[in-house]
Amino acid sequence: MSEERAVIVATRFIDLVLKHNWEDINGFLASEVQVFFDIVSAAGFKPREVTQGKLVGHYYDEEMRLTSKTYPINELCPFKVMNQNGEDDYRATEWLDCVLRYVACDVGPLTQASRSRYIGVIAGEIGRSIPLEPIQLTEHCDELCEPVPKRRHDRLGEFFRHTRDDDEIRPPDSFVGIHRYCGGAMHRVRATQDCDAILCQKCFLRALISTGIKTYGELRKYEETQRVIEVMRRPE
Ligand SMILES: [Zn+2]
Ligand SMILES: [Zn+2]
Ligand SMILES: [Zn+2]
Repeated sequence: MSEERAVIVATRFIDLVLKHNWEDINGFLASEVQVFFDIVSAAGFKPREVTQGKLVGHYYDEEMRLTSKTYPINELCPFKVMNQNGEDDYRATEWLDCVLRYVACDVGPLTQASRSRYIGVIAGEIGRSIPLEPIQLTEHCDELCEPVPKRRHDRLGEFFRHTRDDDEIRPPDSFVGIHRYCGGAMHRVRATQDCDAILCQKCFLRALISTGIKTYGELRKYEETQRVIEVMRRPE
């Protein structure tokens, strides 16, 4: 997702949001639903469909059991998001509701300046919402995915804070992410004088990395370089 593309998607979304009163709306054009599909896709979610519907979350009681008491996930947004498996995507739906509310519930008068401000904020939020690009760990395409993102509250509402390439990959003996497809938790531990190992708790994959690696970005670069070295070593 280029920054330019994020701005285009955000602009279409904002112009649509400013056209309607979202407290009282029924009936949408397919092209309008597409604008919602495009922005949620640009934000890194993988929707199969965006469709009219409301999702609710359930409150827990003191013993952390689900209760029948509910709260709305998409308070204002008339659309819910369905993932590739045809299931309701709660996070994507919540994200869509947050960006819609940010623009639709702003009280100030609409000016060229406020429109530009919305575009900047929403395009920025699209960028922040994209998950970390998985890091290939082995020749056999094993990949490390970021840990489950933490919730982050700000003036826009509630979003998730994703891992970025310049985030530190935690010091030895700690959780670094998820083994893609396998789903196992991966930890970094000390293994030899020069190497740490990234281990999968579930399938026991073990990938050696240099102890000097401090960030996810350095790990990504290291793995790319290792693969180039491997290819060069291969007999012709
Ligand atoms: Zn919260
Ligand atoms: Zn050991
Ligand atoms: Zn695994």
